[in-house]
Amino acid sequence: MGADDEAGDGAARLAAIVPPAVLALIGRLVEAGHAAYVVGGSLRDALLGRDPADWDLATDARPHRLVELFPGAVYENRFGTVAVRRDAEVFEVTTFRLEHEYADFRRPHRLDFGDDIEADLARRDFTVNAMAWGRRPGEPANALADPLGGRADLDARLLRAVGDPDARFREDALRMVRAVRLAATLGFDIEPTTLAAIRANAGLVAHLSGERIATELEKLLGAPRPSVGLALMQEAGVLAVISPELAAQRGIAQSKVRGEDLWDHTLRAVDAAPVERPVIRLAALLHDIGKPATLAEGHFPHHDAVGAQLADAFLRRLRYPRTPAEEVVHLVKHHMFVVDQGATDAAVRRFILRIGPERLEALFALRRADDLGSGADPDDPDTVAFRARVEREIHAAHPLDRGALAVDGHDLMGELGLEPGPRLGRVIDELLERVIADPGANERGSLLLLAQGILADMYEDAVDPS
Ligand code: ATP
Ligand code: MG
Repeated sequence: MGADDEAGDGAARLAAIVPPAVLALIGRLVEAGHAAYVVGGSLRDALLGRDPADWDLATDARPHRLVELFPGAVYENRFGTVAVRRDAEVFEVTTFRLEHEYADFRRPHRLDFGDDIEADLARRDFTVNAMAWGRRPGEPANALADPLGGRADLDARLLRAVGDPDARFREDALRMVRAVRLAATLGFDIEPTTLAAIRANAGLVAHLSGERIATELEKLLGAPRPSVGLALMQEAGVLAVISPELAAQRGIAQSKVRGEDLWDHTLRAVDAAPVERPVIRLAALLHDIGKPATLAEGHFPHHDAVGAQLADAFLRRLRYPRTPAEEVVHLVKHHMFVVDQGATDAAVRRFILRIGPERLEALFALRRADDLGSGADPDDPDTVAFRARVEREIHAAHPLDRGALAVDGHDLMGELGLEPGPRLGRVIDELLERVIADPGANERGSLLLLAQGILADMYEDAVDPS
């Protein structure tokens, strides 16, 4: 069977793959005198034999007309997208567009509605994203519209800019980020002139909003192997614009995998992090972000603390949602924890307290990715034993926070005449320290006695600070 037959088969299969609700939407629009097509990423994915996450439709019907035709449809925004509900699912129907007058290397200044599918496809980013499947009124059956050669590029697994790549990336610099992202999510190569244009225009990525970059980065980290896109980003100069700190990892020596540098280690760690855990993947990307800045005589002193600050600044620039950003920063800050067989039980309990019991599992998941990225065994006996000890301590339910102490602030104020304030807080912290070292001491009488001793010490320190 030749490539043409395969292409034909793929297109023919579409009639079977496209859900009945979408076929019905196309049918209804055509019946009402409009052209209607499945477009964009959904068509691309369907042709690749993947299950599209959602189905995007394009039509020459204007938004007000769509709202008229489909009761309950909602006109979402000024970009001409209408959400149509069908079979308990929502489909985005977008009126054909013509785009022009780009400014600031970002979105177009003005959007006009168009009347034909060809113009709508021509303003899309890559040929594989610029196909349509559907029909105009009067046409007998749905068919593939592929004026830009998307089908051939899909078979060759190539991302090729629609039109002049240089011009298209200057119109909207996000397309360069999308190219490397799609290379990773689809497992495609970037066609050479398109890649050359990314190299030439990478600096324009600086004009993009953090949110738009973050959206693509998140999709990139959800790829089977994000390293494919990250490596392209680095080679093409896009990474240096998004994160100079990460780009600086290239060329920094590591004693981990022979012949590989720090950036190679980061890439391996990201790929090794579980695909279904975006926070761990992002933490793997950022865990050593502090190394280039702290490099001194072959070591990276405090790169975890410095890295946590740099990761925080990076995620703020990208306007990352607070909760995952905070989790990632916490993981970067603590990723250097030491697995020590000789640690006392109290030291293990202090470690649990420092990390937070509910956050340990994520930290171990990051360590696993870090180990795999270093060519080390993530299940070496020391690590396994340490994890087991931590588990045991957590399940032993030893007091690990102030709330679990057998006395509270009210007791201390009532029994010892303490006033609310920092001194009371210090006494409670000190009691917690003692109980972590010796869980047996967590008993009201002993704690009150201990507190008296702590207060006496504090008083002496205050009188004689030597
Ligand atoms: P995914 O499957 O990850 O959603 P996608 O290609 O569908 O990938 P979307 O952001 O959903 O990505 O965009 C839908 C379609 O809109 C694309 O397939 C492409 O045709 C077009 N498109 C998106 N962003 C741009 C852009 N910046 N410039 C030109 N066309 C774009
Ligand atoms: Mg999409």
